[in-house]
Amino acid sequence: MKTRRIFLQKASLSALALATPTFNTLSAMTESFTLPTNEPQILRVAIMGLGSYGTRVAEAIQKCTRTKLTGVISGTPSKVEDWKKKYDIPAKNCYNYENFDAVKNNPDIDAIYVITPNALHKDQVIRVAKAGKHAICEKPMAVNAEDGQAMVDACKAAGVQLLIGYRMHFEPNTLEVIRMRKAGEFGDIRFFQGLCGFVIGDPTQWRLDPVLSGGGAMMDIGIYAINGARYMIGEEPVWVTAQETKSNPEKFKEGIDETITFQFGFPSGATASCLSTYYMNYLDKFYLNGSKGWVEMKPSTGYGPIKGETHKGPLNEPIVTHQTVQMDEMAAIIFDGKKPEVPVNGEEGVKDMKIIDAIFKAVKTGEKVSLKLT
Ligand code: NDP
Repeated sequence: MKTRRIFLQKASLSALALATPTFNTLSAMTESFTLPTNEPQILRVAIMGLGSYGTRVAEAIQKCTRTKLTGVISGTPSKVEDWKKKYDIPAKNCYNYENFDAVKNNPDIDAIYVITPNALHKDQVIRVAKAGKHAICEKPMAVNAEDGQAMVDACKAAGVQLLIGYRMHFEPNTLEVIRMRKAGEFGDIRFFQGLCGFVIGDPTQWRLDPVLSGGGAMMDIGIYAINGARYMIGEEPVWVTAQETKSNPEKFKEGIDETITFQFGFPSGATASCLSTYYMNYLDKFYLNGSKGWVEMKPSTGYGPIKGETHKGPLNEPIVTHQTVQMDEMAAIIFDGKKPEVPVNGEEGVKDMKIIDAIFKAVKTGEKVSLKLT
């Protein structure tokens, strides 16, 4: 529960205060105490990386009730100028990649949302943690599980939270499917299919540079099928097999996967079959099959509206701006200890990174790779 500081002048000294109205005298004559209040605490966030997704998140935050954009971290001074004006951000809350450790001494910022190229997340989140601020980090949290774990460890050591930008974990239709599955409405879950892809453009962008991206479609979009398989089935995979194909090895260089099909096995015997690609459009579909029912979500992970059909009829949950709900829920996680239906903490991110490591290993070796995530 939040507390509000209330300053009351001591009645017996009020006359003297009026006679000598200096700040020091007044403060010496005041006493402070705290009263409980039910007002929720506002999460004051600085966005790091003012690119395409950072811009979307900033817009979404404008509709939040518990989150406020109070700072920026950017390597592009002209963007900082624009954002300062557009979002009324004071100059003292603006940083670049060299000086942002100084955020440590800035009481206007509670958390930093890292929305930069994947390979930069690790060092940036560790610096955020060392500055004593909560870290929110975009997916994929890192470029492999080892780096992800280092981020989790750094945040733990610093006593700050690490949350991953898994916006689907707060999306109402997705949550309804999870509720139905938990209530047994699909019966025993037997199969999941996740298809995620789009045709990527500009060959010079960081997403096609292995040093900055850590991989191709899998890191970017395949991770939705991985994460989705886990929350739709409600189990952790115990093995993975995977196969890679490439239509354009010039555009999709070594270290940049274009298309990977991959399969999971789960402890219950359920299986999953997924596709991650930068080669095909119109791919944003989840399908879940159980002994008593089914759901097909299409689109399943785009910005919305998410649509779905089940054996009982259509999914009809409210249409929301994913990032607005995500940020307000994250405020509740950070300040109220709220437990989300599906975790969004660093450990959840590391699980996806372990699976991606295993998928790349399975592609390389052609073997079935065992996984131990629990
Ligand atoms: P953009 O290229 O549009 O923006 C990235 C920003 O990062 C840049 O504009 C730049 O901002 C900053 N940056 C810092 N260093 C570099 C560098 N060396 N090269 C390029 N940019 C740099 O990417 P996105 O916004 O699309 O993606 C950023 C992250 O967000 C990725 O991890 C991605 O996976 C994730 N994402 C998540 C989505 C979701 O739905 N959850 C959707 C889209 C992306 P500045 O000029 O301010 O320094």
